[in-house]
Amino acid sequence: MTTSIVECPHCYYRFNYEFIPSASFYSIRLGTNRIFKCPQCKELHVFKITKFGKDSSLPTHGDNSETGVGAKVWALLLGPLFAFIVIGFFLLFAFQLFGVYIIFLLLGIVWTFAYIIYLYLKVSRTTNSKTYGAN
Ligand SMILES: [Zn+2]
Repeated sequence: MTTSIVECPHCYYRFNYEFIPSASFYSIRLGTNRIFKCPQCKELHVFKITKFGKDSSLPTHGDNSETGVGAKVWALLLGPLFAFIVIGFFLLFAFQLFGVYIIFLLLGIVWTFAYIIYLYLKVSRTTNSKTYGAN
């Protein structure tokens, strides 16, 4: 377990974030940034994981279901990817359409990346102080 001091870009709530560096089971990792739910304002935001260490005066939250992005996001992220792979496999075995299978696989990957970018832009927007309180 690694701990980093993070601050919510929206409500400025500061806390120790405990996580496993190489994996995330509930948050979406993008380099040094992670998308997860702020325990204070309960909204998805982009957190910068750069300040390693622990501040004992701050509360601690982990990479768990409390801070997780939620089942809806995972379903939208992995659902279509899974569907494309299943359809692709079906076409491959039923009609030996290997090219079509590759296209479906690529569509699934493209969807996953596009959705992560969309989510990143969406949650980044609300971090702007101009929109504070607007939602
Ligand atoms: Zn917050």
